[in-house]
Amino acid sequence: MLCARGGARVTLFERVASPQTVGAGILLQPTGMAVLARLGVLGPVLERGARISHLRGFTPGGRAVLDLAYAARRPDLFGLGVHRGSLFAALWAALEPAGVEVRTGVTIEPPETDADGRFRLPGAPERAYDLVIVADGSRSQLRAAVGPVSRARPYPYGALWFIGRDPDGRYDGVLHQVYRGARQMLGLLPSGAAPGSPERLCSLFWSLPMQGPRGVDAVRAAGLEAWRRAAIDLCPAAEPLLAQVDSMDDLLTAPYYDVVMARTHRVTPRGRGAVVLGDAAHAMSPQLGQGANLALLDAAALADALTEAGAFADPAQVAPALATYEARRRGPVRTYQRLSRWLTPVFQSEADAVAVLRDAFFGPLCRVPPVRRLMLDALTGVKTSLIGGAEPPRLALPGPQGP
Ligand SMILES: Cc1cc2nc3c(=O)[nH]c(=O)nc-3n(C[C@H](O)[C@H](O)[C@H](O)COP(=O)(O)OP(=O)(O)OC[C@H]3O[C@@H](n4cnc5c(N)ncnc54)[C@H](O)[C@@H]3O)c2cc1C
Repeated sequence: MLCARGGARVTLFERVASPQTVGAGILLQPTGMAVLARLGVLGPVLERGARISHLRGFTPGGRAVLDLAYAARRPDLFGLGVHRGSLFAALWAALEPAGVEVRTGVTIEPPETDADGRFRLPGAPERAYDLVIVADGSRSQLRAAVGPVSRARPYPYGALWFIGRDPDGRYDGVLHQVYRGARQMLGLLPSGAAPGSPERLCSLFWSLPMQGPRGVDAVRAAGLEAWRRAAIDLCPAAEPLLAQVDSMDDLLTAPYYDVVMARTHRVTPRGRGAVVLGDAAHAMSPQLGQGANLALLDAAALADALTEAGAFADPAQVAPALATYEARRRGPVRTYQRLSRWLTPVFQSEADAVAVLRDAFFGPLCRVPPVRRLMLDALTGVKTSLIGGAEPPRLALPGPQGP
């Protein structure tokens, strides 16, 4: 959309023939919301989302392991739990007015260059392109044709997800997690409303190994009641949501991927290029709740680099713009990749001793101002290096909450 508004002729290809507004909730951070504001879709997303003021994590005995308030970083900050469908619907509706041609039901094959140094897409060969933006998700089949992939593997742990009704707003305001060691984790994320429905929703996620005796197949085979009992035992507060699960088929399995690319772009001798964005370039475990936010930040950074280089008027400037883009995104993306790789085993693994240390020290550390600041920078999505962070963006909020 940002490229179309900049003057480029943009075509979006989507493999799914009729994209559906499905999925559980995700947490948007101030950084992601700022990009949505730039795209002109923050209003509808806010309207259907649920504001999150705190991230709180506990042991089953009620000991606080994590207690982070967005307002402790800056009083105007908050996260937004949003149904994936509502985020999708807002973005999808904005494509056509922005001048983006949308073609669904087209599976793109790795791009090839023609004799003019422009790109041809084997799935849609009728046009040549000056820039190909690859954003085909964590299991990308296209990224290797653009740049070297250093790592693309699944995490040993993933999650089962369910989205249920929360008519009384019982879970409002807090991303609530309960941990038993690092082997069990249940999370509750208020997720606003799905498109076309006034019902307030809350997502429930249950962390588990993907394989083995405690893995997805074993849990599914043991049946709904065994799982429900274990989940209620870990987090009795989740019972009203758990009561809404009618069968194991209501639970979606979500694997997590760890993807690292040594370089995310390539250029042709005529200065045209291809670039990989979002999960295709840097899928990570959702422990830090950053994936969609990083994808939005990638998009904004790319549009900025192309605009600054004058690439919308002169396609030969695509190449320097991609180099600028890569240099700007490398630090923040690498930082979140590392943090996510280090933190995931602290919450999702067989590392019992690490969990004991976590339960003993994380709670007190959250109260030490410099450490709290580092944690809040990581949460709000502004980290640029392991110790550095930018100032979180200020959102010009529509409506009475605005400045
Ligand atoms: C359980 C779970 C919880 C999460 N929670 C959060 C959270 O709280 N906050 C957060 O920010 N992020 C979260 N994430 C991460 C977030 O979902 C992803 O980072 C985000 O969806 C990445 O967006 P993307 O556009 O890069 O890829 P995707 O959303 O995967 O989109 C890729 C698109 O490309 C299409 N496609 C694929 N191949 C082709 C092809 N060959 N040709 C044409 N089209 C193709 C697909 O159909 C799809 O529509 C979570 C992820 C999981 C699994």
